[in-house]
Amino acid sequence: MLAIAFIASRGADRSFSGSTIFSTRVKCGECGGWYGSKVWHSNDKYRRVIWQCNHKFKDKTRCKTPHLTEDEIKAAFVRMVNKLYEDREFYITELTAIKNRLGDTAALEKERRILDEQLGIDAKAVNDLIARNTRVAQDQKEYNERYDALVNRYEETEHKRDAVMEQIDQIMIRRRKIERFIESVKDLPELITEFDESLWAGLVDSLTVHGKDRIAWKLTCGMEIDF
Ligand SMILES: [Zn+2]
Repeated sequence: MLAIAFIASRGADRSFSGSTIFSTRVKCGECGGWYGSKVWHSNDKYRRVIWQCNHKFKDKTRCKTPHLTEDEIKAAFVRMVNKLYEDREFYITELTAIKNRLGDTAALEKERRILDEQLGIDAKAVNDLIARNTRVAQDQKEYNERYDALVNRYEETEHKRDAVMEQIDQIMIRRRKIERFIESVKDLPELITEFDESLWAGLVDSLTVHGKDRIAWKLTCGMEIDF
């Protein structure tokens, strides 16, 4: 009996706050929290899903940002995409400039190679010290101090190398995102009239609701546009 009740309540939960393409995509312009979904009129023909700031139910201070129905989110998306389409030349030029300003990774790659070599040298110094200690009797206090110093040097170099690799990764990820976005904009099928889920997935990182007609879009290329 218990198990059945549990499953039934899980099912009921899901219809109220199920994960959809809008989950963790719609942000409140007032508190910065995520909008959550709620079903209105779940049992009649007026049934619809609305999205509103979750903050409203957790705190006494309520955000004044409006709720949006799924249809309103979809319509706002269609308007945003069509704006992108109309101004595509501008956005492609802008994004290409941003991409070029990211610089190339050649200098960082060179730095990484140098640090990799240094890491090899540092590792060898530690190993040599250990090997010598097994062959030659020496002051163990001195040996331990020397060992700690060499290991610290190795770890410092490793830390620097990892930071450079992280920088390279960030630039490459950013560049790939911009390139993919530019391709999506170039592929836009003229003006659209209906919501398109794959376009949504490719273009939208998140949107911040300031008002019914004031939405700031953060796009997957990192760019933000307001309408
Ligand atoms: Zn809020």
